[in-house]
Amino acid sequence: MLMSIILTGDRPTGKLHLGHYVGSLKSRVELQEKHEQYVMIADLQAMTDNNADIISTNILEVMKDYISIGLNPDKTTFLLQSAIPELTELTFYYMNLVTLGRLERNPTVKTEIQQKNYENSLPMGFLCYPVSQAADITIFQADFVPVGNDQIPMIEQTNEIVRKFSATYGEGIVKEAKAVLSNTQRLVGIDGKAKASKSLGNAIILSDSEEEIRRKVFEMYTDPNHIHVSDPGKVEGNVVFEYLDAFYEDKNHLEDLKAHYAKGGLGDVKLKKLLNQTLQDFIAPIRERRNALNDADMKNILLSGTKKAREVAVRTMKNVRSAMKINFFEQH
Ligand code: ATP
Ligand code: MG
Repeated sequence: MLMSIILTGDRPTGKLHLGHYVGSLKSRVELQEKHEQYVMIADLQAMTDNNADIISTNILEVMKDYISIGLNPDKTTFLLQSAIPELTELTFYYMNLVTLGRLERNPTVKTEIQQKNYENSLPMGFLCYPVSQAADITIFQADFVPVGNDQIPMIEQTNEIVRKFSATYGEGIVKEAKAVLSNTQRLVGIDGKAKASKSLGNAIILSDSEEEIRRKVFEMYTDPNHIHVSDPGKVEGNVVFEYLDAFYEDKNHLEDLKAHYAKGGLGDVKLKKLLNQTLQDFIAPIRERRNALNDADMKNILLSGTKKAREVAVRTMKNVRSAMKINFFEQH
């Protein structure tokens, strides 16, 4: 991976959580060192299933999360999706390169439609959000997209749109991208659901208080058949072990704990205390950095990044329009 272009982002639907960290934020902190990285706050995408108040109050919260986990505005360009109208324009053009049937087959969107009870009243904007994501990725000519594995179908769909665009209007104007997946491609929710997510309310937030972290750890789903300490316990699918896998650094010790738990004799409380301590140690410095940040600085960082990013978007769109022959007044 030589010097590449990286694009990724988050919906400002709430504060960021541990799932974001292990699935994507951690990779971004590493990638910003050697690559040209764009991080987008996807407020327009959030509008497909959230109200305007939630979105507007969370834009600067997400910016604070970014800075407190170590993204550096000198190395990463932050941008606000709605302030770059070229993204909406490109989404509109891409709509002609994808069918309804194909959008309905996207497995991540399918799951989300069920979760949101959209089966009988599906907003078109929601069904089409993968098309808008294709515009986000390609307008910046991204090579790599660091994401959790729920986003793999989005990148596949992006690349199909790119191939269709290239076959229809010419090669080399927009390009395909690859997902960058981390060791923890999907962090489970504290309730044992497949994904910790802002909208499911089952995540430990990167700015949770000491008390909230402790409460959530002790609420975690373990093994319902592990009633007495002496009972053999299940490691697989045990939320506490999934979090220890993601955050506890002494892997040898962790393997011993798993063996002990499986054999019997290791209690849930002891395990949860270890996880609680691990997460307290991880989150405390992030929370401390976050408390020192102020809104005005966050807004300035986002504004100057958006200006810079827009120049790139304008450049790509010039080429796109000319390839699509929709530059009539320039031609005649
Ligand atoms: P929402 O519920 O509003 O969709 P979300 O929690 O799913 O919020 P997004 O903003 O949709 O968060 O996701 C941003 C990025 O974080 C994506 O790359 C996504 O893959 C990653 N991500 C989110 N949750 C997890 C998770 N539990 N494990 C790994 N990666 C995750
Ligand atoms: Mg999501």
